[in-house]
Amino acid sequence: MAVSADEKSKICLACGKPLKGRIDKKFCDDYCRNNYNNQQKAKGAYSAYVRNINNTLLKNRRILEEILPEAEETAKANKDKLQRMGFHFKYFTHLYTTKTGKTYFYCYDYGYLPLENEWFLIVKKKDESYN
Ligand SMILES: [Zn+2]
Repeated sequence: MAVSADEKSKICLACGKPLKGRIDKKFCDDYCRNNYNNQQKAKGAYSAYVRNINNTLLKNRRILEEILPEAEETAKANKDKLQRMGFHFKYFTHLYTTKTGKTYFYCYDYGYLPLENEWFLIVKKKDESYN
């Protein structure tokens, strides 16, 4: 018996096997349907997690940007102020360690260096160092 083009192109969304039968079928069976739904749920949770971290990083950057005046090279802020502004110390994009062993924590192009007594030196990457 010939298989119509439509039936031929239908595959199970979960396992990718060709589907036979009703044209509106999306899965082989309940097992595949459940598998697929669980996968979709996991994907949703994952992207929410990633989105939250991205938002936190962007917020951190915005806070550092707010503290550092455009005309200045550096600024200082204490932990209390940063936290009140909603800064999350847990999240940063990368670290930069100088030859003298100081480690800067960066959120994109803005960074901070922990100083003594919970003070922080805020810095911005220089334009020529983006590449
Ligand atoms: Zn299947």
